[in-house]
Amino acid sequence: MHVLIVGGGVVGLACAHALAGRGAEVTVCEAGTLGGGSTGRAAGGIRTQFSTRVNVELSLASVPVWESFADDFGVDIDYRRSGYLFLARTEETAAAFRENVAMQTEAGAPSRVLSPAEAAEYLPELRTESFVAATFSAADGVADPHSAVQGYADAARAAGVDIRTKTPVTDLARVGDGGSDGGSDGGSDDDSSDDGSADAVATPDAGGWRAETPDGSIDADAVVVAAGAWSGRVASLAGVDLPIAPRRRQIAVVEPEGDLPADAPLTIDLDTGAYFRPEREGTAVVGGHFSETDPDVDPDRFDESMDVEWAVEATERADDAAAYFGPETRIRNGWAGLYAVTPDHHAILDAVEPGLVVAAGFSGHGFQHAPATGEAVADLCLGEDACEVDVSALSLDRFESGETLRERNVA
Ligand SMILES: Cc1cc2nc3c(=O)[nH]c(=O)nc-3n(C[C@H](O)[C@H](O)[C@H](O)COP(=O)(O)OP(=O)(O)OC[C@H]3O[C@@H](n4cnc5c(N)ncnc54)[C@H](O)[C@@H]3O)c2cc1C
Repeated sequence: MHVLIVGGGVVGLACAHALAGRGAEVTVCEAGTLGGGSTGRAAGGIRTQFSTRVNVELSLASVPVWESFADDFGVDIDYRRSGYLFLARTEETAAAFRENVAMQTEAGAPSRVLSPAEAAEYLPELRTESFVAATFSAADGVADPHSAVQGYADAARAAGVDIRTKTPVTDLARVGDGGSDGGSDGGSDDDSSDDGSADAVATPDAGGWRAETPDGSIDADAVVVAAGAWSGRVASLAGVDLPIAPRRRQIAVVEPEGDLPADAPLTIDLDTGAYFRPEREGTAVVGGHFSETDPDVDPDRFDESMDVEWAVEATERADDAAAYFGPETRIRNGWAGLYAVTPDHHAILDAVEPGLVVAAGFSGHGFQHAPATGEAVADLCLGEDACEVDVSALSLDRFESGETLRERNVA
């Protein structure tokens, strides 16, 4: 079985690694460089503290992979298990925190609800008077996305995966018994696609897919759309509409005025959306989206630089949460990247057509979920049931049926 993966970010490479590990022949086409999309711009956060069971389970299945990554992949991803601290300013948010923690602990995550005073044990300069509650999980941490890409790419190549950079997929069409009427000029009208069921993938009568690239065409039994914020565009080549919006998000690296401990947790002030975490050599990363508006952007033409006014606001908001970021804080550098946002802030992990699997729309948490996603996608492509996470709630048709999810812990 030959699987073509479109996109060489952490998700595409994790899928390639999982598929090759199960004996599939795999080709990865990446339009630019590996990790050059959103992956290389992520904050590296890895957390079990989500508000829906499927997101918690994707994390719980991924965390062990990150923990043993250096041993298993031979690449140090600078994994630091310093926890995540969520902060609530209102009783309403605190009530949601209590519900989340009940669900998270039932799923097996070691989260706890804390009073502001207890939270200050993890973050000494926390402005306790501004908050009513917090949650903390020691299972959470951060890692370096660039190194993770390198580790997955090396392991995938060693397992025989053909990785082609600077190779954009420019068209996708169904071939063989599945019909040749897909493609950018209108999409497939094959009845077999109507049920959208995962087990329809890669059955012999589903036919295959032909991808066009500037270097020629590639035939595959299955195609995985793992193109991050570009996934809507890539799926449209096959006539499939995905509700995935590319949204710009920024990060600043600052030299805090105060002494932010190197082992401080990644802290999210959920009611303002501000977050921060320690970085190397006494610096810190600050982030968050504060504007009332959040327009879709062109993923090929968005401003990749950091706005200084935004960085000032992000730093001030971080200081509103904990007194490390006073006026002497120096903004060192920063950048902008893309979240691939779905209407319910959950990924789409689904066989949306026979032989066409989507792994995209992670809405700001795709780095951390890549390991479990790779296994789930291998199941979808190969018709297997090896992944411990049931991803059926992440089907594309939830947006039509109205059975969407609600992730409240979004920053
Ligand atoms: C500022 C910021 C902070 C973030 N922080 C975190 C965090 O702390 N934790 C977390 O888990 N996530 C975080 N994320 C989200 C995370 O970066 C993404 O969810 C994740 O990187 C998605 O990986 P991906 O492989 O799906 O996408 P990408 O890394 O974007 O890879 C997709 C690739 O597809 C390629 N491509 C596009 N079109 C084509 C085509 N036609 N043919 C071939 N290739 C194509 C692109 O070039 C790109 O390299 C953050 C994102 C941003 C922007």
